[in-house]
Amino acid sequence: MLHGLSDPDIKATTNLIKQRFVWKSVNKDVQEWCKFCIACKESKIHRHTKSPLGLFKLPNALFNDVHIDVAGRLPSTTGYTFVLICIDRFSRWTEAFPMSNQLTETVSQTLYAVWISRFGVPETITSDRGSNF
Ligand SMILES: [Zn+2]
Repeated sequence: MLHGLSDPDIKATTNLIKQRFVWKSVNKDVQEWCKFCIACKESKIHRHTKSPLGLFKLPNALFNDVHIDVAGRLPSTTGYTFVLICIDRFSRWTEAFPMSNQLTETVSQTLYAVWISRFGVPETITSDRGSNF
């Protein structure tokens, strides 16, 4: 009954039982009970698949591969509360550009006006796939 209230894991169920009852094989019995609980088997994730890390090919030239991200909301400075951060993977050259908001149009206009206009169009732009990118 104690396990069936919310299907806690083995350790939590054992603690619940031990607060109320004492018998010799409580640990083993609770472990067995939890292992064969159908509700737990149906609802809990017992195995997590671990995917391998993604591979980035090494950059081969200046400003070919750029990582971008937006930071904010920050304290306002003359109306700017966000910054677009651009990092060149080859040189690790980093710049941050003020933005009044983080809308897609603002991000793209800022990227074009302050990065692409000076360093050219990169082969790849990497982001966290936020909706504004
Ligand atoms: Zn259960």
